[in-house]
Amino acid sequence: MQTKISKGLVLYNRNFRENDKLVKLFTETSGKRMFFVKHASQSKLASVIQPLTVAEFILKLNDSGLSYIDDYRDVAVFKQINDDIFTLSYATYVVSLADAAIDDNQYDPHLFAFLIKTLELMDQGLDYAILTNIFEIQILERFGVQLNFHECVFCHRTGLPFDFSFKYSGLLCPEHYHQDEKRSFLNPNIPYLLDRFQSLNFDELQSISVNDNLKKDLRQFLDALYDDYVGINLKSKKFIDDLGKWGDIMKS
Ligand SMILES: [Zn+2]
Repeated sequence: MQTKISKGLVLYNRNFRENDKLVKLFTETSGKRMFFVKHASQSKLASVIQPLTVAEFILKLNDSGLSYIDDYRDVAVFKQINDDIFTLSYATYVVSLADAAIDDNQYDPHLFAFLIKTLELMDQGLDYAILTNIFEIQILERFGVQLNFHECVFCHRTGLPFDFSFKYSGLLCPEHYHQDEKRSFLNPNIPYLLDRFQSLNFDELQSISVNDNLKKDLRQFLDALYDDYVGINLKSKKFIDDLGKWGDIMKS
């Protein structure tokens, strides 16, 4: 058993036997791992094992069996996220995507930092739908999917009103639209935004504004990409879809 101090994010917890819990943490230094918390409700850890809690943890790591949380300090919670059901449901989805994208015990400090940054920006009140889209497009690589939203797959020209072809897994420029009669017929702003999202540095984020129609189209196209290239069914994503429908009912 090895003792380590690491920043970590609680992904979720679940009941285990009568009174104990299993807690999944994404740690900065050792990837995602499951920790055993005995007598969870009476434990000093009770308040820090809630989902979306960030802290510096003192961990007892065991590569072959259960790991343990010894102690913690510097606890931070995302208060604004927890106070709003919409933001919370998007944050929960982003966290479960990160959980699905890499194996347990896999060291990935970049993904860890990117996830924390995304949650911080959601907590500051930046557009959670757009932040989620950026997260989805940048995490595709972790699922082994590499898509280029920058240039035409045939002539490699850039800066044109592109469309996306699932057949060629890439962009078509107007001169090459005809290569795929089943191309996506996207609003060219969609590939343009996805190209920006792929290379976006978070400081530029304030400069991106997307209207509601385009947001809806982005959501639809990302769903199509995920269906085709990733193929995972996350409960948290279904919840977002249902929330959207519920919102529509309220409007009509
Ligand atoms: Zn072309």
